[in-house]
Amino acid sequence: MALDEVIISQAIIERFLHKFTDSLEVDVAVVGGGPAGLVAAYYLVKAGYKVSLFERKLSIGGGMWGGGMMFNEIVVQEEGKRILDVFGVKSELYRDGHYTADAVEAISTLCSRTVQAGVKIFNLVSVEDVVLRQERVVGLVLNWTAVEMANLHVDPLTMRSRYVIDATGHATEVVKVIERKVDAPLLTPTGKIMGEKSLWAEQAELLTLENTKEVFPGVFVAGMSANASFGAYRMGPIFGGMLLSGEKAAALIGERLKKER
Ligand SMILES: Cc1cc2nc3c(=O)[nH]c(=O)nc-3n(C[C@H](O)[C@H](O)[C@H](O)COP(=O)(O)OP(=O)(O)OC[C@H]3O[C@@H](n4cnc5c(N)ncnc54)[C@H](O)[C@@H]3O)c2cc1C
Repeated sequence: MALDEVIISQAIIERFLHKFTDSLEVDVAVVGGGPAGLVAAYYLVKAGYKVSLFERKLSIGGGMWGGGMMFNEIVVQEEGKRILDVFGVKSELYRDGHYTADAVEAISTLCSRTVQAGVKIFNLVSVEDVVLRQERVVGLVLNWTAVEMANLHVDPLTMRSRYVIDATGHATEVVKVIERKVDAPLLTPTGKIMGEKSLWAEQAELLTLENTKEVFPGVFVAGMSANASFGAYRMGPIFGGMLLSGEKAAALIGERLKKER
């Protein structure tokens, strides 16, 4: 049968619109498709929740592709390796509890398994604001990244979610917008974003996990966003904390959703 250009266009438009429309009301909206956001989304969808993930860039994966200083290998500790095993990413003992994995295999596998598990991922979409009801976040304000980049005066669209995960990395973009625009303190010790500290791998990995929690009613932080929000150290190119933080964010939100059913 001859290929028809119009059918190709119709297929893309109709399929995308169906996927997007169906994703405008979900249990959890994840902002940022780095390792923390992907892992959180994966565990939540596996637990039976409806999840959409919005990523500003064309490629999913955040800062994991480049390993350390563009040497595309990552290091994980024993606990982090456990999550790589769940996803089926090969890792190899280097020495003394330090494992390595190919950065490209790691992030492409996290991404593929997450989509196959049922998470709807929207790349090229930037989250520019939150939707509020009193002092609780109940959704996100979305626009095409291209609109943002071109500084076009085009109104965004909105979606509703019971919980939001800010997994935007160092930028902590969702939390920043709340700090700037909402007349209520964050759930940090100072009520503000505390900012990331200099590098201390061991402590940072522990604190990434500890700081994975609710930062504002309805919003949890995961990955580097957790560290930046609650003022912890950076850790360098060890990625176990990012994976474990995603897992913990999913577990915490899963508990809440279960209670609210
Ligand atoms: C300056 C710098 C320093 C770094 N230092 C460290 C370090 O000390 N330790 C370390 O482990 N890693 C570091 N990294 C690498 C990397 O950020 C992390 O290792 C790791 O990838 C963080 O994982 P994550 O999932 O928290 O966020 P990321 O991998 O950064 O992913 C966040 C994703 O969110 C997306 N995003 C951001 N804002 C929005 C928005 N508004 N809407 C939609 N999508 C959005 C981004 O495009 C990105 O893909 C650094 C990176 C940079 C740029």
